[in-house]
Amino acid sequence: MELEKVKSAFRPVVESSKGAFSKVKKFCVKNLNLKNFKLDIKQLKKLNLHKLSIKIVNKKRFAMTVGTISLALILIMYVYFSGIAYAVSINGNELGKVRNKKQVEDLLLQVKEEYKKQYNAEISTGSQITYIKTRASNKELLSSATLEDAMREDVTYTIQSFSISANDSTIAAFKTKEEADKVLEQIKAAYVKEEEKAQYKEITFAEKVEVKQEFNEEDKIMQAEAAASFILKGTNEVKIHKVQEGESIWGISRKYNISMDDLQKANPSIDPSKIKIDQEINLLVPKPLVSVKTTEVAEYKENIPFEEKTELSSSLYKDQSSVKVKGVYGERDVVAEIVKINGIEESRNVISEKIIKEPKTQVVVKGTKELPPKKGTGTFTMPTRGRLSSRFGSRWGSTHEGIDLAAPIGTTVNAADGGVVIWVGTNGSYGKLIKIDHGAGYVSYYGHLSKYFVQKGDKVYKGQKIAAVGNTGRSTGPHLHFEIRKSGKPVNPLNYVK
Ligand SMILES: [Zn+2]
Repeated sequence: MELEKVKSAFRPVVESSKGAFSKVKKFCVKNLNLKNFKLDIKQLKKLNLHKLSIKIVNKKRFAMTVGTISLALILIMYVYFSGIAYAVSINGNELGKVRNKKQVEDLLLQVKEEYKKQYNAEISTGSQITYIKTRASNKELLSSATLEDAMREDVTYTIQSFSISANDSTIAAFKTKEEADKVLEQIKAAYVKEEEKAQYKEITFAEKVEVKQEFNEEDKIMQAEAAASFILKGTNEVKIHKVQEGESIWGISRKYNISMDDLQKANPSIDPSKIKIDQEINLLVPKPLVSVKTTEVAEYKENIPFEEKTELSSSLYKDQSSVKVKGVYGERDVVAEIVKINGIEESRNVISEKIIKEPKTQVVVKGTKELPPKKGTGTFTMPTRGRLSSRFGSRWGSTHEGIDLAAPIGTTVNAADGGVVIWVGTNGSYGKLIKIDHGAGYVSYYGHLSKYFVQKGDKVYKGQKIAAVGNTGRSTGPHLHFEIRKSGKPVNPLNYVK
């Protein structure tokens, strides 16, 4: 119908004008309420209007077309968008695919809420959850049960808590600030002797120690009871030695191959010279996470060492000396400020001192006399001071080959004449024995000794200290057995001594 109208109304226009096309178009749009149409311009030019072919798309047809296209587009978009998914990763480990992020976020929130109730504290996530846009079919998606498990197992939740930090690094965490503060007090108390508390001027930490509110993982949050010991030792390990009878701290040090310094660090309150049976010695050298610094003012008595003066004397040989006046320690009262780190003295600053008793100088006399020649002189002296307790010769049916001089153990034994030491050592019934060869066939024996002061091969002078009286070998009491042999045959020493 519309086509007929166009044909009849625009016949003259189309015949007369080359611009007919646009005019026809304009008319159609305006008067016939058409949205669009197509005019075959070649046919229009031939002016054969009967055969003129005008394609008119009326409103209804247009709407249908748009509808069809839209439907097709929606279908394409649906197919496209329905394939979109996200690959979920926790701390960089890919877990699987989900259709939307909200599913993950909702589960995370749900678990967080559970923990929030359980711990009665704010909960934060310590893991990083990332998404990468991808495509997946429904079959490839994570099941919500798997996803929920992952939210519990793979995600780290942190709990609002209170950390103790030393020099800005966290060393322990607690649920409450009160617990953290209490632990710090316990640590300080470990290095404060209660009975000397009044002496302390300051008790503090060597490091910058702070209590901060932080989110920490559950297993990092400690129980206050065990925390002080852990922080003081740097470990929860325990290694103890119980003192046995006859043991010393030095013996324990060697037994476990721990230096005395380390043992002291592990046992700051133990006096090494006063350990008792069954006392527990800590064998783990502490590596404290914080160091307690105490400053105390101590008052104590102290010995003042004595000086030593030497006097010379021509009545003693050059290798001899004797104490003429024994030195005596003085004494002073000292007030000092002592700084200790974990119970070990770091510095001591003497504030005042008062001398109660001056020390007494020790006087030592040193000999200047030239040593006599270290060879036999042909005459002998008595080798020690002592009572003649047994003579040379027959004694209860046998022969006593020397003389016995009774003297206390430790009494000096001198060489009866100069010569060369030819024997130092134990010899049967003689016990500890020295023999000196004086030349000209004379050899002297000194038996039952307790100590030797010469070695085999030494040259000695007449009267030189060679040994100490003892009670070794076959002997009924402390004495020196003195023998002189001439060409191997024992002779009566009393006949040779002058
Ligand atoms: Zn004898």
